[in-house]
Amino acid sequence: MPASQALPQRIPSMTQQSQRPAFAGWLSTTNDITRTFLAANRVPGLINMAGGLPEPATFPTAELAAIAADAVRDHAPEVLGYGPAEGLPELRDALARRFSSRDLTLTRENVFVTSAGMQGLDLVGKVLLEPGQLIACQYPTYLGALDAWRPRSPTYRNLVIDDPAFDAFSALDGAQFAYTVPNFSNPTGKLVSVETRQALVDAAHRTGTWLVEDDPYGTLHYDGKPLPRMIDLSARTNPGAPYAGPVVYMGTLSKEIAPGLRVGWVIAAPAFIEALAMAKLGADLCTSGLTQRIALAAIEAGLLEKIQPTILDTYRQRRDALCAAMREHLSDWLEWEVPVGGMFVWAVGRDPSLNTDDLLKHAMAAGVCVAPSSVFDATGMNRRALRINFTLNDASRLAEGAKRLARAFEAMRDPKK
Ligand code: PMP
Repeated sequence: MPASQALPQRIPSMTQQSQRPAFAGWLSTTNDITRTFLAANRVPGLINMAGGLPEPATFPTAELAAIAADAVRDHAPEVLGYGPAEGLPELRDALARRFSSRDLTLTRENVFVTSAGMQGLDLVGKVLLEPGQLIACQYPTYLGALDAWRPRSPTYRNLVIDDPAFDAFSALDGAQFAYTVPNFSNPTGKLVSVETRQALVDAAHRTGTWLVEDDPYGTLHYDGKPLPRMIDLSARTNPGAPYAGPVVYMGTLSKEIAPGLRVGWVIAAPAFIEALAMAKLGADLCTSGLTQRIALAAIEAGLLEKIQPTILDTYRQRRDALCAAMREHLSDWLEWEVPVGGMFVWAVGRDPSLNTDDLLKHAMAAGVCVAPSSVFDATGMNRRALRINFTLNDASRLAEGAKRLARAFEAMRDPKK
């Protein structure tokens, strides 16, 4: 069976004749590319370089199995029953300790546990957006964030922070909130400079706009040192006081331990945490008590720090392997910068008329899946680039993937070949 036939079908047409009420209008404005990426993993023979998927061999399976067994045995009422919407109190305390710093003072009231990062994005949309309101987004933008907010039909202002003329104040002014992934952004892998972080924080303080700092990749730095978080920069204006500023910091265990745990967090002003709790009641009531307990025990046992060196070595080598293979097979078609962290290489077509939506069809036929740039743009207009993941596959599969992608470029240039 060709790879493309094994993937999920599109959402049924909204114009189909039916006695039943129509689906909500936003469904006809979306795309199902993330389903394709998630399903691609199970298509035999296909090399999946599309999603932000970790290498399963890095999961600390034995430790997690032991922790999970202890959690069920020792904390049964808590892990098998319902829990508080804000999260397990001990986990909130542990996260408050983990993210407090010289400048940033956090208490339990600053911390909210989510069913991983995606839920943080969804709930932020629920508590902040009226239909049609404006979001100022780092451009290009994480497609999951666009997906999360699509039911609210927001409008977007692109934050083109690399533009030397970028003015953070006018970029944030009038927006309901601003959204950034400052560490090794999804999709571009870019690291936002300290100066730009500071400018965004100052603009958030001056305009009163919430500044969402989405940080799933912060620990995945391969060269150089981590830069200060925007929430820390923001706290410097009022050191020592429990945080009450405009930055809404989001994290997740998905890239640090395992995405299957579905545990993440939002750190923000207590009033923001209260609003999130109201929204969570209408979403899933509470995050799984079992995975929260596992997360707590893993954090307390230092498991994150223990596995980090292996994760960094593995991913650094894979980044280098992908970039070497791209230099060998793809440099006629694409240009890119080597990312200093994260999970992706963002490659832009040398030919301005490159259409990576079309390229994806040829790539799937050639047995490789990558992410086209259109899905990281609220208008879908950016067709010239690709996001290529390097964390899931080993060096030889990455090399084979680059070769297949080169074949897709050739097939697109000469369809008879
Ligand atoms: N934010 C960004 C920027 C991401 O790349 C991801 C995962 N790809 C998430 C949030 C959500 O991840 P999760 O729900 O697994 O925590």
